[in-house]
Amino acid sequence: MTDNNFSNDRRRLLRGALMGVAAAPLAYMSVRGSNALAQDMPKLSEDDPTAIALNYVNNAADKDDMREPGAICGNCRLYLGDSDAEWGGCTAFPGKLVNVNGWCSAWVAMS
Ligand code: SF4
Repeated sequence: MTDNNFSNDRRRLLRGALMGVAAAPLAYMSVRGSNALAQDMPKLSEDDPTAIALNYVNNAADKDDMREPGAICGNCRLYLGDSDAEWGGCTAFPGKLVNVNGWCSAWVAMS
């Protein structure tokens, strides 16, 4: 490898790293922005076939026999809504809103 090739490789690597750093805030804003738009989405019905498959309920207490104590959408890693919003998006149910006090069997503890 010549010095010129080595410089080009380093330059390319540095450019890629800088683009990654620059893209991080945009990705964050995209997620937050999509959550703002999410408020216009329909609420997930408990009768939805996917909701039934994942045992989703609007009120987590209705599944006390299945869930970990205290587990609700509002403390699930897949919940996209604001903690003070009653409804928010969820990556398990794209295009639908879930209740912050709901629960489903895909619940994952926030780390
Ligand atoms: S994946 Fe998490 S946020 Fe989504 S419905 Fe299930 S418990 Fe709620």
